[in-house]
Amino acid sequence: MGMQFIDLQAQQKRIHDRILNNIQKVLKHGQYIMGPEIEELEAALGGYVGTKHAVSCSSGTDALLMALMAYGVGRGDAVFTTPFTFVATAEVISLLGATPVFVDIERDTFNIDPDALEKAVTALEKKDPSIYPLPKGYEEITPKGIIPVDLFGQPADYERINTLASNKGLFVIEDAAQSFGAEYKGRKACSLAHVGATSFFPAKPLGCYGDGGMVFTDDDGLYEGLTSIRVHGKGSDKYDNIRIGINGRCDTLQAAILLAKFEIFPEEIGLRQEVAKRYNDFLAHESIRTPSVKEGSLSAWAQYSLVSEKKDAILSALKKAGIPTAVYYPKPLHLQGAYRYLGHTPGDFPVSEEIAGKIFSLPMHPYLTEEEQKSIADAILRAV
Ligand SMILES: *Cc1c(COP(=O)(O)O)cnc(C)c1O
Repeated sequence: MGMQFIDLQAQQKRIHDRILNNIQKVLKHGQYIMGPEIEELEAALGGYVGTKHAVSCSSGTDALLMALMAYGVGRGDAVFTTPFTFVATAEVISLLGATPVFVDIERDTFNIDPDALEKAVTALEKKDPSIYPLPKGYEEITPKGIIPVDLFGQPADYERINTLASNKGLFVIEDAAQSFGAEYKGRKACSLAHVGATSFFPAKPLGCYGDGGMVFTDDDGLYEGLTSIRVHGKGSDKYDNIRIGINGRCDTLQAAILLAKFEIFPEEIGLRQEVAKRYNDFLAHESIRTPSVKEGSLSAWAQYSLVSEKKDAILSALKKAGIPTAVYYPKPLHLQGAYRYLGHTPGDFPVSEEIAGKIFSLPMHPYLTEEEQKSIADAILRAV
């Protein structure tokens, strides 16, 4: 088999027996829904991240959705987020009838820009789109919360975001779908805001063999809401329905697989740092911008992304060399058909638009060898 963009086989080889053993345990006890592995996984990951509560769920998308539902988000609410992310981040806001208010990104980290965020909040408070581009219907909505995204595995600037949020009375939900295992000023991703939401989609830093996710919080009231929303808005039992919820549970089998994978996860985060460092060293060149990680932060390296004017030439050279690549994200959300209803136009979020045209990602996983990385780097350097 040729080079993999994300090599899940190499990892599976290491822990194959543990995974099978954990699956067999589930087949034996037969509690496929909310079996004992669910609580075990929540305790393990909550402990790792350092939050009081952890609520497993059916996907990263549902983790975000459940967090918004726990805050009672709905029509008339504005939730600030970035247009340079996977669509799920904004989609859950729209699903609840609320309005995503996009805010441009920092050029170096690709995360939401705190200066722009401040302007956007002010613009909406004053109902003045000359201060910052606002979505259609801005006259009817009021600021409610912020969803920063830890893009490619690097935490956003929570010190500034949380300060602004607390001054304005907004909630902050950390979209940590790509950053489980990352750190920010001595704290773990998923614990950096009021709520953290992560994904166990197979390609994420900690992935299962299907869909899964988790919500983290220190807040007892939110925890109560999340566990209820996860099971159709249950009250004292599932046939007592006290609110509108969803079927948002994580499968016991996925929890069993994650427990096996989590045993080697901290080591894998270390390996990812080595892989990223080797790329940085090999790719030092004036026409390539390697990723920049802020001081005090540790990336989980969900993606290793480069920015270059010569993107097209590099991508075609890598394709010829049989090296898989990906582009995250070729089109910012405000220019997607699904978000036409917000009435944005090109130029509204210029950094996102510019980066979208120049960014691409290289194979990234803990088991990438120095030799493979050298051959990738050589192909790139030859192309520029
Ligand atoms: C993957 C991802 C999600 C959604 O996670 P799923 O488990 O696929 O539903 C949300 N936000 C971001 C930034 C993601 O990368």
